[in-house]
Amino acid sequence: MPTATKDLYEVLGVGRDASDSEIKKAYRRRARELHPDVNKSPHAEDEFKELNEAYDVLSDAQKRAQYDRFGTIPGAASGGSGYVDFEDIFGGGFGGMGDIFSSFFSGFGATAQKQVRKEGRDMGIGLRVTLEEAARGTKKELVYDRLAACTECSATGIGPDGTKVVCSECGGSGRVVTVQRTFLGDMQSAQTCAVCNGTGERVEGACEECGGQGRVPDRQRVSVEIPPGIHDGQQLRVAEFGEAGLQGARAGDLIVTIRLQPHDHFERDGDDLHASVDIPMTTAALGGEIRIAGILPDEQVRVKIPRGTQSGEVLRVKGFGMPRVRSDKRGDMQVHVNVNIPKKLSKKERELVQKLADEMGIDDADIPLNKLR
Ligand SMILES: [Zn+2]
Ligand SMILES: [Zn+2]
Repeated sequence: MPTATKDLYEVLGVGRDASDSEIKKAYRRRARELHPDVNKSPHAEDEFKELNEAYDVLSDAQKRAQYDRFGTIPGAASGGSGYVDFEDIFGGGFGGMGDIFSSFFSGFGATAQKQVRKEGRDMGIGLRVTLEEAARGTKKELVYDRLAACTECSATGIGPDGTKVVCSECGGSGRVVTVQRTFLGDMQSAQTCAVCNGTGERVEGACEECGGQGRVPDRQRVSVEIPPGIHDGQQLRVAEFGEAGLQGARAGDLIVTIRLQPHDHFERDGDDLHASVDIPMTTAALGGEIRIAGILPDEQVRVKIPRGTQSGEVLRVKGFGMPRVRSDKRGDMQVHVNVNIPKKLSKKERELVQKLADEMGIDDADIPLNKLR
């Protein structure tokens, strides 16, 4: 093993010739074993991370081929794609792989206290978009990990020989009544049945793949349409691409928050774009037209420079800003002009400028002060 600290196949416990589905199965089995609810070893969390990194490489044909050939882990070992930021935008919501697993394991088995939520939760994900992409609109593929419907059991949670039976603990009512003796007499209280989580049913012979949940951790790809003109912080909702529900219940949504990246040449202000250019002093004095790059691909913007343009003036070019969302109109381009005074002049140029100064009768000894404001 040249650079990797541990052999990735060993981490997953599979042979080097393992098929994709064997790798996936091994990953899920190992993930279950390493979950903190089951595994109290202090190394479980690190091993869990290791496992995810190994799976990230071995579940991707390209990365796996590179690993097999060179024995190194390809860059960006986790996350799957460079531009995705998972973030906890819902407070206590989705926060990455760790969270996938905590919801995968929470609330199942006899120790569960709370009633389990059947619908899947919404998931939040940040998506970096360049200003050019926002201007022309684009499609982006997101790769993320989520709890997805188990294909083995069609999300029912029931194994091939399994069946649903009435919960014996609560007799199918989903509630357990306990009686406490107090000095006021017997006090009854009803609680959600911890064995069936209030469903009144129990799966006998659960699907091995998902342990009866009907959902499993999986890598998801989804293509997201970015409309032209989108703003920073805007959110796109992809229905039912969040966490899968328990045993086929409705999945949550994927909520994509746009993170617009700063641009080197344009600053956005609403639908307007601000740009800054240096123009020759001769153009400023004589007037003319300059061409600058626009925000759309191959777009050229012609900027009319009025005669006598001063440094610091802002020239507005209508219709060359950002597109407005769901409209064929565009904002404006606001061009901030800086008049460029040459630092060096050839002999001939100096003579010409001198001539100009003489012609204009400029007396540089006696300049009146400007008014401040
Ligand atoms: Zn299943
Ligand atoms: Zn029950």
